[in-house]
Amino acid sequence: MIVFNFKEIISKTIEDLKTQNKRVGFVPTMGALHSGHLALVSKSLKENDIVVVSVFVNPTQFDKNEDLKKYPRTLNRDIKLLKTLSKSNIVVYAPSVKDIYGENIEAINFDFDGLENGMEGKFRKGHFDGVGTVVKRLLEIVQPHNAYFGEKDFQQLQIIKKLVEKYKLPLNVIGCEIYREESGLALSSRNERLSLEQKKAAPAIYKTLKKAKEKFANQSVNKVTKWVVAAFANQKLLQLEYFIIADVKTLKEINRKSSKKAYRAFIAVYAGEIRLIDNIALN
Ligand code: AMP
Repeated sequence: MIVFNFKEIISKTIEDLKTQNKRVGFVPTMGALHSGHLALVSKSLKENDIVVVSVFVNPTQFDKNEDLKKYPRTLNRDIKLLKTLSKSNIVVYAPSVKDIYGENIEAINFDFDGLENGMEGKFRKGHFDGVGTVVKRLLEIVQPHNAYFGEKDFQQLQIIKKLVEKYKLPLNVIGCEIYREESGLALSSRNERLSLEQKKAAPAIYKTLKKAKEKFANQSVNKVTKWVVAAFANQKLLQLEYFIIADVKTLKEINRKSSKKAYRAFIAVYAGEIRLIDNIALN
């Protein structure tokens, strides 16, 4: 498995592969890979000849420096895991901050038509400017036919689709469903930092989402939201940051539902200082 550290070299290599009519898939990650990431890579391997996996902890998308510092970095383990899927059809791009940003570690200011304003964009200031900056740069370097993103970060997935549309980037953005542990907990690199007790408590997040979905069928948005808030008030180890029901297309929070529209519930919860997010389709 080849591991590239420099953008010029990986760009040239991919360009050569494309002249040989190879289809190129791309899975951007921040590393500390788990089965959720591997599910994206497996899908990409089925649909392309070569899959590029980037491993880059992007400094401009963290609003808290402490979170950036504590983000797990396990490149050797990540490479071993990827080798279990394919030794010859995956290439890794693990650039330095300098390779991506040069001397100017700054995010571009984007307008994603309002998709960026709620939820993660509201509670993590500047987050989607950072995500947009790095994904745009990575897409320009890799120039894949297909890029894969998880619905675990549903707002991010919609924003990337908007980015690709706005900048007319020639690729398909493919969303992949959320990969969960047996307990229902959505896999996340942050789960590694949970204590045993927190790990036991965390499946309540998805359980509550599933129950909220059931209730949404015949209860008002307000009633469902109140029920979720009350459910978390009883959780000693989990603090609810937000629970929001939003229109899938605009990602705007709703107060009243219409039978013609599709909705999703979004949640962010703290277990100690570890922030976990999840979401579920409601109808
Ligand atoms: P990250 O390394 O957390 O930035 O994630 C890289 C990609 O993997 C993003 O597109 C995420 O949405 C996706 N991803 C992370 N966890 C999961 C999961 N549990 N299920 C599906 N996709 C995921």
